[in-house]
Amino acid sequence: MKIGILGAGISGLSVARLLKDDFEVEVLEKESVVGGIARTRDVNGMAYHVNGGHCFDSKYDDVKKFVFDTVLPKDKWNYIPRKAEVLFRDRWISYPIEFSINQIDKIDSNLAFKITNEMFNASYESGANLQEWFINHFGETLSKEYFIPYNTKIWQISPKEMDSVWIEDEKQMKLPVPTKRGFYDAILNRPNDTMVHKNFYYPKTNNQNTFIEALGDGLNILTNYEVKNITKENNQWIVNGEKKYGILINTTPLDLIPNLLSNIPSEALSAFKKLKFNRVTNILWETDGSLNFTWGYIPDPKIGFHRISNTGSIVQPNGKFCTTEVIGNVPYEKLVQEGKKLSFLKNPIDYNVTEHAYVHFDLNYSSAKKSAIDYLNQLGLISHGRFGEWEYYNMDVCIKRSIDLANKLKSMHL
Ligand SMILES: Cc1cc2nc3c(=O)[nH]c(=O)nc-3n(C[C@H](O)[C@H](O)[C@H](O)COP(=O)(O)OP(=O)(O)OC[C@H]3O[C@@H](n4cnc5c(N)ncnc54)[C@H](O)[C@@H]3O)c2cc1C
Repeated sequence: MKIGILGAGISGLSVARLLKDDFEVEVLEKESVVGGIARTRDVNGMAYHVNGGHCFDSKYDDVKKFVFDTVLPKDKWNYIPRKAEVLFRDRWISYPIEFSINQIDKIDSNLAFKITNEMFNASYESGANLQEWFINHFGETLSKEYFIPYNTKIWQISPKEMDSVWIEDEKQMKLPVPTKRGFYDAILNRPNDTMVHKNFYYPKTNNQNTFIEALGDGLNILTNYEVKNITKENNQWIVNGEKKYGILINTTPLDLIPNLLSNIPSEALSAFKKLKFNRVTNILWETDGSLNFTWGYIPDPKIGFHRISNTGSIVQPNGKFCTTEVIGNVPYEKLVQEGKKLSFLKNPIDYNVTEHAYVHFDLNYSSAKKSAIDYLNQLGLISHGRFGEWEYYNMDVCIKRSIDLANKLKSMHL
């Protein structure tokens, strides 16, 4: 049985690697290099994360076993403590912010008291939208000070217009969901921070591409091969009218499937059209070297960036460079102006706009995604990965999903 995989990002490479000993596998990638949105660009020896800063960690033992035992051995990675911070009222304080009540107390004691009171009285109800979810878990005050402005920046839409399904997703747990006990421990300086990325791994070569290249090593990959058309004839998938596969796994963006498949019924077509995503623009900066965190979050709407990835603090020895992230396709000149608001940013070095960066969880999200995936399931086309499944997956979750998919296909004895 020949398996075709569309896209050589982390998901396509992982599933190809896991299937290659049992099947004939071919990966089709439109770019000249592999790695998708996790890939970096080497700029004068600096790993520029063109699509936003990345690091690797996982709460899944099978993911770590796959990576460290079969891709890049553990002794080829540095294990680095996370030091994430939030720019809160012009001061950098520790992240997660709800565990930093002592630091907020030093800025405004009444505010810290109010937050504490509300955190202990939180109802933990889901609410009708993301804004209500924040208020019911963190209280009105902390939601207003941090969660609502930060999430408005990162999603470019009011959290009132957003679904909260992505937060408590078992597979991801993107946000640290608070508990009253955890909050109490933090007040007493007994931090109970069990989030993924408390520590993380980064290749000792100082470039994530080392991991990506190792993941793709030994695979049958056709680069510079853009998939433009998919049809199914006599139980065979045919790509671009020339390549034939018994099984097809798509990792390219779900919303673009109507460009590849013809005759999609109107109901399914309207579901594909309702899938929304956000672009992201990243600038690589030379810094003054004063940033002493691994990454920082900026909720202030007056500052154009929402996140700073201080890759210079991750590489060994440290370098004076970081990446600033902003949602949307934002012109270079505007971002250079924004950079003047943060004194540690010295010179802009490089610039990139990413098309598919974040799946958008608007109130149509759940039903549109379900109808689109149901339609592909009905055709027997497997859709996989961050944009194939239209989910907020990190690299490790893409790998976890690849392990599960490969096991499923192997157990079918095709
Ligand atoms: C700003 C940002 C920060 C992130 N930080 C982290 C982090 O710190 N840690 C972490 O684990 N994860 C992080 N992630 C998530 C991580 O990048 C993704 O989970 C992962 O890279 C997704 O891989 P994928 O293979 O599913 O998708 P993609 O990387 O999108 O791969 C899809 C591939 O398909 C190819 N393709 C598309 N169309 C076609 C076509 N028509 N024909 C052929 N090929 C095609 C593309 O070129 C691409 O190579 C971050 C993501 C973003 C946006």
